[in-house]
Amino acid sequence: MQLSGKTAVVTGSNSGIGLGIAESLAAAGADIVINSFTDRAEDHALAQELADKHGVAVRYIAADMSTGEDCRRLIADAGRCDILVNNAGIQHVEPIEEFPTDKWDAIIAINLSSAFHTTAAALPMMRAAGWGRIINVASAHGLRASPYKSAYVAAKHGVVGLTKTTGLETAREPITCNAICPGYVLTPIIEAQIPDQMATHNMDRETVLSEIMLSRQPSREFATTDQLGATAVFLCSDAASQMTGTTLSVDGGWTAM
Ligand code: NAD
Repeated sequence: MQLSGKTAVVTGSNSGIGLGIAESLAAAGADIVINSFTDRAEDHALAQELADKHGVAVRYIAADMSTGEDCRRLIADAGRCDILVNNAGIQHVEPIEEFPTDKWDAIIAINLSSAFHTTAAALPMMRAAGWGRIINVASAHGLRASPYKSAYVAAKHGVVGLTKTTGLETAREPITCNAICPGYVLTPIIEAQIPDQMATHNMDRETVLSEIMLSRQPSREFATTDQLGATAVFLCSDAASQMTGTTLSVDGGWTAM
């Protein structure tokens, strides 16, 4: 197995893209640390399910990615971190002058600062192991803006900047850092935006999906969590060892425009 003997820590991985990436890394043989802040019985059951399905060790560690202390504790509790996937993220949509300060602070903390803290905690482990892969789940919004998503766009542009800096700081070592920039993927973070969009535009669900959400995605198709998982596995392969400090768009052509 390509990644056997490696341990991957995936932040925000009890659903959506993080879970898809965790599944793909497990299928490639990596031991996995699943994370969220929720600490429910089903989070622990999910870890057991993944372990049974892929024959690898899977642990669930609860940690709140909105605090630097918890981000660093997650990596310390993992004990080993060969592959770090910074995926946890939230969204809030509102014009700047009405954007609640607590939402701004939470989005910057969870979507951007968490990646700084986990990276700082994981790099010494990667250096000790002599190999490392850092994969930041940014967004097409790390490369392009949209109105009403000020905090999200600022955070994701910040993640792309952090990715470049981390890539440069580790360039002479067997460690890489890259950002995956998905376009729209139909996960809970997107589902949560659909009712508002239906009300705002007075449209049914299918019309909102095709005419609003996918209007900037030229393929007019959602990217899938499996595709993002496969991209992460590729970034862990030898073929990607000279790719660092860069972005990989999986966005149906969005950022070609
Ligand atoms: P999701 O809501 O399914 O997943 C978000 C994950 O983050 C969940 O596992 C949740 O538990 C976790 N999380 C949220 N707050 C947390 C906290 N304080 N501490 C720990 N974990 C926390 O959404 P998703 O679409 O899978 O999003 C995953 C990442 O992909 C996010 O960074 C998001 O910005 C990014 N992204 C998503 C899309 C999309 O279209 N779905 C597109 C581009 C980028």
